[in-house]
Amino acid sequence: SIVVTGATGHLGRHVVEQLLEKVPAEQITAVVRDESKAADLAARGVRLAVADYNTPETFDGLFAAGDKVLLISGNEFDKGRVQQHRVVIEAAKAAGVSLLAYTSAPGGLTAALADDHRATEEVLLSSGLPYSLLRNGWYHENYTENLAPVLAHDAVVQAAGTGRIASASRADYAAAAVAVLTGEGHENTTYELSGDEAWGFAEYAAELSRQTGKEIVYNSVSPEAFASILTGAGLPEAFAGILAGVDVSIEKGELAATPGDLSRLTGRPTTPIAESVAAALKG
Ligand code: NDP
Repeated sequence: SIVVTGATGHLGRHVVEQLLEKVPAEQITAVVRDESKAADLAARGVRLAVADYNTPETFDGLFAAGDKVLLISGNEFDKGRVQQHRVVIEAAKAAGVSLLAYTSAPGGLTAALADDHRATEEVLLSSGLPYSLLRNGWYHENYTENLAPVLAHDAVVQAAGTGRIASASRADYAAAAVAVLTGEGHENTTYELSGDEAWGFAEYAAELSRQTGKEIVYNSVSPEAFASILTGAGLPEAFAGILAGVDVSIEKGELAATPGDLSRLTGRPTTPIAESVAAALKG
């Protein structure tokens, strides 16, 4: 089987959807916490396995020898993601899966956000399992699905200065994962996945202006000011700090690399951010 964790998340849904175009549904297992969120997948013949990263026993017997597994990193920053991921890796090791692919962070990213990913990579490498590190860059959707405050103030507010970002759409990262899960020869590989072109927030504001007909500017603020804007908007302080740290990394160019691994894996150019903007504005 091809087994996908986080299958009811945004990325996981894209992965399962694209897998369904390539392999019979009964060869796909979606690992979910809440079966009711995956009723549509079950109806299409996808096998469901109910498990939670916080409850190791739920992974007992979930994997079979020879499975190819995509471990999609969790989003519970306060629950010890490295330990959560270790649970999945150990269960996969015990079963003898043939590949474990993990959605990691770019190799050059020094922001605190990357810490859990580096540590998970170490756990995976020391497990001895055949691995594939899918070092996903930033998603277009981190910006394009959060346009309400931008449109309310006619301003893109970030703390990234003139830093550039080679983001890509979730669907593109999913396509890369599907290529690895359904292709051959991806054992013990590391892919630096990113969009084909990097862009800066001034250009992004100009693109938003073009598509909305409004005049939208880019305000680059300090990381401290950015974090307090985010907490003011209701984000927990720790998470606001993490996101401000990402902008510091963006300013340093740590998310700007365009090695082309993503488009090589998928065999097509990545989706330009202008397209994700258009999709988001259409709603
Ligand atoms: P989502 O938040 O949409 O999905 C996260 C998935 O992880 C969900 O399916 C969720 O399950 C599952 N999950 C979380 N905790 C557990 C748990 N304890 N046990 C089992 N499953 C769990 O994120 P995306 O799909 O957009 O992105 C995937 C991952 O990529 C994120 O979790 C995060 O690690 C990382 N990320 C990357 C970004 C980038 O720009 N590269 C931006 C944001 C996140 P459920 O469906 O039940 O909630």
